[in-house]
Amino acid sequence: MFVTTLGTGSPMPDPNRAGPATLVQTAGQNLLFDAGRGVLMRCAGAMVAPAMINAMLLTHLHSDHTTDVNDVITTKWINSFVPTPTIIVGPLGTQRFIDRTLATLEDDISYRVHHHADLTWEPLCEVTEVSDGLAYEAEGIKIFAFPTDHAPVHPTVGYRIESEGKVVAIAGDTVPCEGLDRLCKDADLYVQTVIRDDIVKNIPIPRLLDILDYHSSVSQAAQTAAKNNVKTLILTHPVPAPQPGTEGEWIAMAQEHFSGTILLAEDLMRVEA
Ligand SMILES: [Zn+2]
Ligand SMILES: [Zn+2]
Repeated sequence: MFVTTLGTGSPMPDPNRAGPATLVQTAGQNLLFDAGRGVLMRCAGAMVAPAMINAMLLTHLHSDHTTDVNDVITTKWINSFVPTPTIIVGPLGTQRFIDRTLATLEDDISYRVHHHADLTWEPLCEVTEVSDGLAYEAEGIKIFAFPTDHAPVHPTVGYRIESEGKVVAIAGDTVPCEGLDRLCKDADLYVQTVIRDDIVKNIPIPRLLDILDYHSSVSQAAQTAAKNNVKTLILTHPVPAPQPGTEGEWIAMAQEHFSGTILLAEDLMRVEA
């Protein structure tokens, strides 16, 4: 099983970090977790064309994680030669979100259906809403959803992928919680979005200070990894984006709590579980 951190950014535009998105490749499938800014550009960088995405799984409906859901749906649709549904999994509210996304695309859909004689169908989306339990199953792959805590954003989920004898946990934005512990128990790879609370709390901007109470800090991510016997911790969606040369600080902070392998994600970093 391979994990590629496609986009490792946050809501703040960054020339080197696309929006949050992670690709898991296993048993011949390409599974996309979240679809932030630039996700299909980064998929192209990973040699994954839109038509090759087997399923898109959303951790939550915050805009930075979903800005390019419309691009995945549309580009997969216009590159298909037979009606092919986009399989979408997400927390409660995802069906409504997809319905609204499709509504914004109505004009574009109409233009294309009228222009291309062989494109006789509209985009098809098959949505499954999940909270706790089996979320996706194919080719021997089992993906389980677990509730996470990103309050007041609710509901949110993380995904545990079990395939080829390995376990990968994709957490999304969350503080440590019971669901997160179950999600990453004994995982080979645990991918966690993180913030540097030591930096953020010293920036006197109220809107930035607000993010402190609903993300895992680097230390908390490391504590979760240690508590749950994880092998490798991947820190992603780092806020604020690490300045060049400071990457070692992030790793060192995590090493204070966790003795396994620690990686600070960059866009298109590919790791084998
Ligand atoms: Zn969020
Ligand atoms: Zn986020």
